[in-house]
Amino acid sequence: MSSAPPVCERGNDHDSDLDATVRGHSHQKARQVMTTIPKPIPVPDADSEGFWKAAANHVLAIQRCTECGWFGYPPVVVCHGCLSPTRSFRFEEVSGRGTLKTWTVLHNAFLPGFQGDIPYVVAEIQLAEQEGLIMVVQLVGADPESLRIGLPAEVIFDDVADGVSVPHFQLVEQG
Ligand SMILES: [Zn+2]
Repeated sequence: MSSAPPVCERGNDHDSDLDATVRGHSHQKARQVMTTIPKPIPVPDADSEGFWKAAANHVLAIQRCTECGWFGYPPVVVCHGCLSPTRSFRFEEVSGRGTLKTWTVLHNAFLPGFQGDIPYVVAEIQLAEQEGLIMVVQLVGADPESLRIGLPAEVIFDDVADGVSVPHFQLVEQG
């Protein structure tokens, strides 16, 4: 059934660096390696290709059923809105606006590339376009103590590699 756009390590060339860090024959080498371990780079598949192509141009595009207009995220195989057997979808630009539904604060980096970010906030963002259309994203630049359900947020893009950008969200300044 549905699956999140995959986020995988590109190749395994990081593994040897990680081993070197863990084994740590010399502190100097370990320090050097720690600063160079990158974050994982998204690797699009057939279902998520449209999402990542748009993101590369700093556009948030969500899979949409051409039969009934229902948005699906993560991409689905069959429209949950109309169950159409035609399975006809396209990726359509959305507003990139939403509201904070819930969040958690990460104090441990489960992947070495995120070590420099901790503590950081991972949030569910209810997108403006459709009730229940929710993205799980990194909420950047936010003080965890200031977070409240329903706060408005907007998409921003992090250029993580050549031609690859990852959408994050940030709170919208309220004045
Ligand atoms: Zn549909």
